[in-house]
Amino acid sequence: MPGFELFGPSEHKEVNDVLDSGILMRYGFDAMRNGHWKAKSLEQELQTEMQVKHAQLVSSGTAAVSVALAVAGIGAGDEVILPTFTFVASFEAVLMLGAIPVLVDIDDTLTLDLVAVKNAITPKTKAIMPVHMCGSMARLKELKDICKTNNLKLIEDACQAIGGTYQGKPLGTYGDLGCFSFDFVKTITAGEGGAVITNNDDYAICADQFSDHGHDHVGSDRGAESHPYLGYNFRISELHAAVGLAQLRRLKDFISIQKKHYTILKDALATIPEITFRTIPEEGEENYSFLSFFLPNLDKANAAMTALKDNGIDGCFHYYNNNWHYVRKWEHLKEVKSLYPISPQIKEALGKLKTQSFNQSDFFIGRNISCLIKLSWTEEEVKQRASKMVEAIQSVL
Ligand SMILES: *Cc1c(COP(=O)(O)O)cnc(C)c1O
Repeated sequence: MPGFELFGPSEHKEVNDVLDSGILMRYGFDAMRNGHWKAKSLEQELQTEMQVKHAQLVSSGTAAVSVALAVAGIGAGDEVILPTFTFVASFEAVLMLGAIPVLVDIDDTLTLDLVAVKNAITPKTKAIMPVHMCGSMARLKELKDICKTNNLKLIEDACQAIGGTYQGKPLGTYGDLGCFSFDFVKTITAGEGGAVITNNDDYAICADQFSDHGHDHVGSDRGAESHPYLGYNFRISELHAAVGLAQLRRLKDFISIQKKHYTILKDALATIPEITFRTIPEEGEENYSFLSFFLPNLDKANAAMTALKDNGIDGCFHYYNNNWHYVRKWEHLKEVKSLYPISPQIKEALGKLKTQSFNQSDFFIGRNISCLIKLSWTEEEVKQRASKMVEAIQSVL
């Protein structure tokens, strides 16, 4: 998945354009910037690449999720449904707005389970936020139907899935709003950065203003701009946008390299009868950043992880035992360990997590191993890796 592996001359060139002018900010200073508008250019190219009307760059993927929720009008006391398997950023972004993250089970897609989603809807629910983990997507059509029936917003956390598609549409464009991350380990990187995409003109204006202190961006004197509402600072810098611009132009190449490597590994693992693969929803195409598969049970998955490590295979994750991506070890969330006072409503909602069990999620995550697909491998290395993986896994079955 990581675009940083292939950092090269095109990234240097874009950054040097910015360094040569010295204008590191995305707004203003028109005369001094030698015609370079890296953030604006990246937004335009993202719109084209993602076939979407609007793209708003922000400072991180976490910020992108917060901005998306904010412009959809989600805040204090509102409930947002999201999966038990995600990166901590997803619930952080909800909490930042004073909204309540409601975690629900996943299914064999490793994303939201439809029945669990329906059961979690209450009068306070305002949005469903599928997270397209490890490069593949949630059951978006069904989720959209649930949203329509219940008058909810569909907000895609596509931070790990840029370049994937669903019904021929780029991931992130199917819902009301979509979010990307360009942090250092994502499919394309800007060092740090993120984007909100949408086809909704009002949301786009709000995202543009909200992410820059509420400035209305009318006229050419920042000091004289008015503020239609309160905002924050989630701006990206020109330096980061420059790196992102070079990387976005390489996205298609990255995906095709990933697909090639992924296919070699998958074909090899498919020869093991005990292994099954993550379900990819019909009409979906993942971005091939991870290969995710299931062992017959938790013990076998634990043993397979040890065998993979012992055989020198790195980059494989058993999220059941991971502190970042799965509810089981989110103690700080369950204990509501906040530096500052948190609303009683949120405390009460999160307090339930201490006793809540997620058996169905445990069933899938306990047996799942996801292996990172690297861009920098040679074909020979991938083939060697494939046979080593097969050998290691077979040794524990
Ligand atoms: C990386 C990630 C984010 C947050 O992105 P940052 O740019 O690191 O803030 C959000 N959600 C998911 C699923 C992610 O993987």
